[in-house]
Amino acid sequence: MFSYTANPARVVFGSGALATLPDEVRRLGVSRVLLVASPSRAKPVAAALGSLLAAEFHDAAMHTPVDVTERALKVVADHDADAVVALGGGSATGLAKAIALRTDLPQIIVATTYSGSEMTPVLGETAGGRKTTQSSPKVLPEVVLYDVDLTLGLPVGLSMTSGVNAIAHAVEALYSAQANPIVDQFALEAIRLLAGALPRIAADPSDVDARTDALRAAWLAGSCLGSVGMSLHHKLCHTLGGSFGLPHAETHTVVLPYAMAYNTSGAPQAMRRIAEALGAPDAATGMHDLIAGLPAPRSLAELGFAEADLAMAAELATSAPYPNPREVTREGIEDLLRQAWTGERPA
Ligand code: NAD
Repeated sequence: MFSYTANPARVVFGSGALATLPDEVRRLGVSRVLLVASPSRAKPVAAALGSLLAAEFHDAAMHTPVDVTERALKVVADHDADAVVALGGGSATGLAKAIALRTDLPQIIVATTYSGSEMTPVLGETAGGRKTTQSSPKVLPEVVLYDVDLTLGLPVGLSMTSGVNAIAHAVEALYSAQANPIVDQFALEAIRLLAGALPRIAADPSDVDARTDALRAAWLAGSCLGSVGMSLHHKLCHTLGGSFGLPHAETHTVVLPYAMAYNTSGAPQAMRRIAEALGAPDAATGMHDLIAGLPAPRSLAELGFAEADLAMAAELATSAPYPNPREVTREGIEDLLRQAWTGERPA
């Protein structure tokens, strides 16, 4: 027996999907949009919205700081906005979700990275230097637009790390405590597509076929993240990002092969399937070799993490129990993090 939760978003996917935005706004029965986007990319969206645009907000930030949300809520109130359109990655999406949580306004997300937040009922917020995460159907976007054209300019470095961030959702879905055959198919297809697409994007960032594969995989991987619980890898990245300020997607990229190596003995069947999707004899070393061939960071040292903080990070990451296919020990995690710090091929 298994259960599967499908999150109720309407998705429009493909080259030129942004052109459907005004119709999607009208479909929701709203007419006063708050647009959340970086200043450099807001212009064409604002133009497309025309008279449906009530106001713009340009200051979304990583990890959704609550004081930024409060400023955005004031703009919502001042302009009587009745919907939020966010264009960008997890940061813009996080702000739209934080507004929806507090106002119930409908959201349309135009996703331009591969982080997958637009597919999840999860919101992580920071206040007073602390990050808290909650899950609520209230933050699920009503509509998601995936326009491949908007991803052609995603810088190569961010494309690589954001793509591995998506692979990480798929990897951990396959050995999740809530794993099920539907999500497994999403996960395996996401890994196969991204393993093929990322080297092609590195070689030619404007390769539309590779960008299409990567964005479709990001949608699938985000659906994995939104449907089943994650394990050790996400916990480690949450700790390294939340307590040590390491950047989100880069940290995922560095840690993933080592979290996989740690979990190999606890999830042999999932790892066999991942290896097959990667076209490699072993999942963890196959992932390491894929990432080593990309223009992407490979070690925690490279991200500026201090060797002296490894023990503290292991302590924090093991202080509360969480589901994982292999027992999580403080010693084992410190060893994992030490390998990730050097960037050596996982044993
Ligand atoms: P991001 O949204 O912070 O974007 C990184 C940078 O890339 C920004 O400067 C942005 O303006 C720029 N950018 C985005 N798309 C671009 C494009 N197509 N072309 C050019 N520049 C572009 O990065 P992210 O990795 O997508 O999101 C990270 C944040 O999302 C973190 O706060 C993380 O915690 C959160 N997140 C949340 C979930 C969830 O389910 N709640 C899932 C994944 C990530």
